Amino acid sequence: EYVLMKNHIINRDEAYINFDDRGYYFGDGIYEVIRIYNGSPFLWEEHFDRFLRSAEELDIVLPQSLNKIKQNILTLITKNNVINGTVYLQMTRGEQERNHLYNRDITPVITAFTKEGGVPVHQQKHGISLWSLEDIRWLRCDIKTINLLGNVMSKRKAEDMGSQEALLHRGHIVTEGSSSNVFIVKNGTLYTHPANHYILNGITRLYVEQLADNEHIPLQKEAFTTEDAQQADEMFVTSTSLEIVPVTKVQGTIRSDFPIGPVTRKLQHAFEKSKTM
Ligand code: PMP
Repeated sequence: EYVLMKNHIINRDEAYINFDDRGYYFGDGIYEVIRIYNGSPFLWEEHFDRFLRSAEELDIVLPQSLNKIKQNILTLITKNNVINGTVYLQMTRGEQERNHLYNRDITPVITAFTKEGGVPVHQQKHGISLWSLEDIRWLRCDIKTINLLGNVMSKRKAEDMGSQEALLHRGHIVTEGSSSNVFIVKNGTLYTHPANHYILNGITRLYVEQLADNEHIPLQKEAFTTEDAQQADEMFVTSTSLEIVPVTKVQGTIRSDFPIGPVTRKLQHAFEKSKTM
């Protein structure tokens, strides 16, 4: 199995990270997870647009052209012969003796690996339960940074409470999941948090927006409350790894049960159709 390390595709067991990598000291870096369906990357340009945006927001300049990075990733996918799976791409600010103050003359470190595996069919069919809790993350959740402590703490808590994902809220406003975006349906209308600094603007979220539009399902990118969530007709989460997964139960600060409704099923169906086109 091969990985991408800086500008080289090498064997995984030959890959080492420098002791002074800022990703290790500070979580100072960004990443993307991209789906591969049938050997082809899905929503490729959208992921790289977000990657560039994250880099720009953190004042990290690409160490090589975007085209070269894309070429390396495509080569990695081919060399690992990934048919259905994901590719993880990461870029840290670079290597520098530990110091909060970063130098601008260090070279960012790009790494990538691939993972074989399909989508969670059982969860897509039967739904998952969420554990709701206060969103304790920082105020730039729009940047896809590898600094994910608030997310990992929430995910562990959710799992420990017998749920598969966390449902985060800031005060009474529902934001997103620990690694997914959240939608509710009320009276046939979809609601999801607007793309601002409180959430990661998910590529799947954006795609669901398009699917909803095609299916003539009204969508409001409007913050909704914990009360709204409790009284929703349907709820689902989206991400690159999950696609669209229905939520059948929420516990914790919000308590509710949901049927897997027609809007969720319609969007799942549209998603499935579109990815094989
Ligand atoms: N929100 C958070 C906090 C995430 O980490 C992720 C994905 N890992 C998402 C939303 C979903 O984003 P995407 O659809 O681009 O995978």
